[in-house]
Amino acid sequence: MKDIKEYLSSYVDALRPIIYINHFDFNYTDKIIEDISENITIIEYNNSLGKVDFKTKAPQIEMTSLEEFLKENRENGFDNNTFIILKDIHNELDNPKVLSILKRISEDNLYREDYYCTIFIVSSILKVPRELENYITILDAPLPIDKEIKNIMINFIKELDINVSKDVINELSVSFKGLNKFQIEQILNLAYQNSGTIEMQDKDLILKEKEQLVKKSSMLEIINFKEGIDDIGGLETLKNWLERKAKIFKNLGKAKESGVDVPKGIMIVGMPGCGKSLTAKVTSSLFNVPLVRLDVGRLLGKYVGESEENMRKALDLAEAISPCVLWIDEIEKAFAGIGSGVSEVTTRLFGLLLTWLQEKENTVFVVATANDISNLPPEFLRKGRFDEIFFTDLPNVNERTDIIKIHLKKRNKFNRDIDIYKLAKETDGYNGADLEYIIKDTIEEAFINNKDTITTDDLLATIKETKSISQTLKTKIENIRKTVEEMDIKKATNKN
Ligand code: ATP
Repeated sequence: MKDIKEYLSSYVDALRPIIYINHFDFNYTDKIIEDISENITIIEYNNSLGKVDFKTKAPQIEMTSLEEFLKENRENGFDNNTFIILKDIHNELDNPKVLSILKRISEDNLYREDYYCTIFIVSSILKVPRELENYITILDAPLPIDKEIKNIMINFIKELDINVSKDVINELSVSFKGLNKFQIEQILNLAYQNSGTIEMQDKDLILKEKEQLVKKSSMLEIINFKEGIDDIGGLETLKNWLERKAKIFKNLGKAKESGVDVPKGIMIVGMPGCGKSLTAKVTSSLFNVPLVRLDVGRLLGKYVGESEENMRKALDLAEAISPCVLWIDEIEKAFAGIGSGVSEVTTRLFGLLLTWLQEKENTVFVVATANDISNLPPEFLRKGRFDEIFFTDLPNVNERTDIIKIHLKKRNKFNRDIDIYKLAKETDGYNGADLEYIIKDTIEEAFINNKDTITTDDLLATIKETKSISQTLKTKIENIRKTVEEMDIKKATNKN
């Protein structure tokens, strides 16, 4: 595999006029640019200082605008082979005058034989304006692989002259996977500051740092919750399935050795308010790993390639913090109607996600949830993407009994005098969220009336006043059931 320097060098040789290096560590990017710049004049412009000396970073002249700088320095390409480095100038890529001069330099570089000037835009934020789309080549720094991670650790340990066992290096290098060199060194530093050495417990530090990474990025969201498996009423088949997979997920090393495949993920399709989100949370608690949510809508950007880049980053980030559960909520809203005229960007995002799901060999367990999948492209549901697809229907009478009990207990209002079975019988067509609402509302009413306990009659009265989801969303419910029956999707419950 080519390394980043080789890529960069081949792009320059191929006369790519603008190379966009999407990276935050400028020391690192300077080093690789310098390494490929023999006999080349390097001119640098930095968003905060203006023109600076590439080697010393000393500002060279009074601060000028980027437009002025480009105007003054473009001629260099006639006399010398020139690299123009532009750092953190992504905000200037809205300025039509800047775009026009960048375009002019690009065209001279491409079409004039007496002109040689490559522009490097270096920034951690990727913005590709449509006007420059044909001139820009994006260069992403590849993440270190196993051997490289170990080398980073070994160099760090050598430099500090500390003793760290081989086992610790092996184990931690697995956890470091998905982070770049800079991030790995920062964590090693932190670990060393804490204890004066690097030890097995630092794995927790890595996970905490990885969570911080998610918090800092706007691509994914860490979900905090309290629910465990006992908070789900019914859905026995689904729960049993998850408990089996949890056993594998918690012992991945051993499972792999025994030839067991790493679980990939599930898709949960079903009625609104029937425990899909709850199941995503419970999966994470069963597997004992963080839960991160991917909101596809949040990835959409206004520049060319930005959305795809965001999707790639979000998936990289999920891998970086793995093992984890990646929850893709309301997936049908993001990808409905693909193949029948939705935007090209959405189609490309869908393609990226599909390939990732198909090819992934990591420890990111995906939980995708959706209400209506009739408009989802069929390839999404094809074998190989998910281990299983489950349908969460409206709860049957036994499940309603469980759900009512769970929510009464949660609020310390469960007592033997309440006829739960009667309540369950009276709530045919209600979903879990409706049942929770009925209990909450009855408790609130009792509180307002200075009553300590609630009775079956109190609950029956609230039921009478509460419309079920089957009444309020009749057509939607019928449509979901029809699609699921046509597709013959496995039911999440084993009772009828
Ligand atoms: P939507 O499609 O509207 O996003 P959902 O299927 O994701 O709905 P949840 O958010 O999981 O629904 O459920 C809403 C609330 O209803 C839950 O927080 C929970 O309190 C209650 N609930 C739903 N199903 C169950 C269940 N099977 N057991 C216990 N509580 C449930």
